Amino acid sequence: MTTPLSPLAPLGTPLNNDAQRLLLLGSGELGREVALEAVRLGLEVIAVDRYDQAPAMTVAHRRHVIDMLDGAALRKVVEQEKPGLIVPEVEAIATETLVALEAEGWRVIPTARATQLTMNREGIRRLAAEELGLKTSPFRFAGTEAEYLEAIEAIGLPCVVKPIMSSSGKGQSTVRQESEVLTAWKYAGEAGRGKSDRVIVEGFVPFDTEITLLTVRASDGTHFCPPIGHRQEAGDYRESWQPCALHPDTLAACQEMAKAVTDALGGWGLFGVELFIAGEADQPQTVYFSEISPRPHDTGMVTMVSQHQSEFELHVRAIMGLPIGEITLVQPGASAVILAGGKSDHPQYAGLDKALQVPTSKVRLFGKPTAHPNRRMGVALTLGDTIEEAKERAIACAQQVQVIL
Ligand code: AMP
Repeated sequence: MTTPLSPLAPLGTPLNNDAQRLLLLGSGELGREVALEAVRLGLEVIAVDRYDQAPAMTVAHRRHVIDMLDGAALRKVVEQEKPGLIVPEVEAIATETLVALEAEGWRVIPTARATQLTMNREGIRRLAAEELGLKTSPFRFAGTEAEYLEAIEAIGLPCVVKPIMSSSGKGQSTVRQESEVLTAWKYAGEAGRGKSDRVIVEGFVPFDTEITLLTVRASDGTHFCPPIGHRQEAGDYRESWQPCALHPDTLAACQEMAKAVTDALGGWGLFGVELFIAGEADQPQTVYFSEISPRPHDTGMVTMVSQHQSEFELHVRAIMGLPIGEITLVQPGASAVILAGGKSDHPQYAGLDKALQVPTSKVRLFGKPTAHPNRRMGVALTLGDTIEEAKERAIACAQQVQVIL
């Protein structure tokens, strides 16, 4: 076992014997930013994913291609690399192996239990609603068609059906009329991650705004970033902006919920707390807890321009046991995603020259080796005097970038 990473112990040098190693489990675009921040703070980074040339692999010191749901393969990489920090960046990981590794003394971020509870919608929903008493949409779980029909009956229409093991809108549908009930069940079964046929049936929340409240648990306490608003389409985000206007009482209620759920999960690191807000910002609003990621959040990519410390820098500082201090907003900012229109084994990009003529704009291309319809290939980041201006700029910038298939 390596020396545990501690803010009090001296930090070694990457690629030397005394290096402090960070093992990144999941090497997508969010992982790539975590890797870059870790490299900046002097860590040696090993990137892992199920496919080669994943975004974080191209900036890491080493890489491994394994099926991260295969516990034996995961253990082998951990024992070979001896990381001071095991940092999950996706949900689909053999979390029971993380629990065993943690019990043997390996450090899992934020905790192995947190990765286990949040991998599965049932674990986190029961913790939030039943143990912590947080307000959520009404919900039922079902594992068979008969249970599903009972759940639909109990919740009523409209409702939202999601596989318990899924993210980014995969297998998710909104059921508005009787004729859609069985289609939603079949769709969830086909698109779920295959480990379980269980679904959650949630009452449809008629929210006005949805936000991500990035919450950091660090050695100097719990810190909140200004709320991030976002727009979703087909269960995946399209634009995000920061700050999102909320009534002061609503913001306090959001922070209280985020504190309760992050304290229950424990450990150090940044969490993306997803909340639904009903009502307008000129009066106190109703807040519903939706879900939480114990890691940087895709809608939080906007913080690469809008905050003095991005969500990735905050995550790496927190997991290293370093202080966060004050989180400051630089200016209102926005992000807009750049999606692929179809399949390709050799995606190319055009229009960057025009895209970067948009004032304040920056473009991040993720370098993913293949494209498929609606795969996120990049993001446009902009600032503005107002949120509206920043958003318009981000959308205008993203629209100029063409993914050539
Ligand atoms: P999720 O994967 O649970 O984050 O869901 C993806 C998106 O679907 C959310 O960000 C919402 O826009 C929408 N959504 C999910 N659950 C509900 C619900 N119970 N009521 C209304 N919209 C929902």
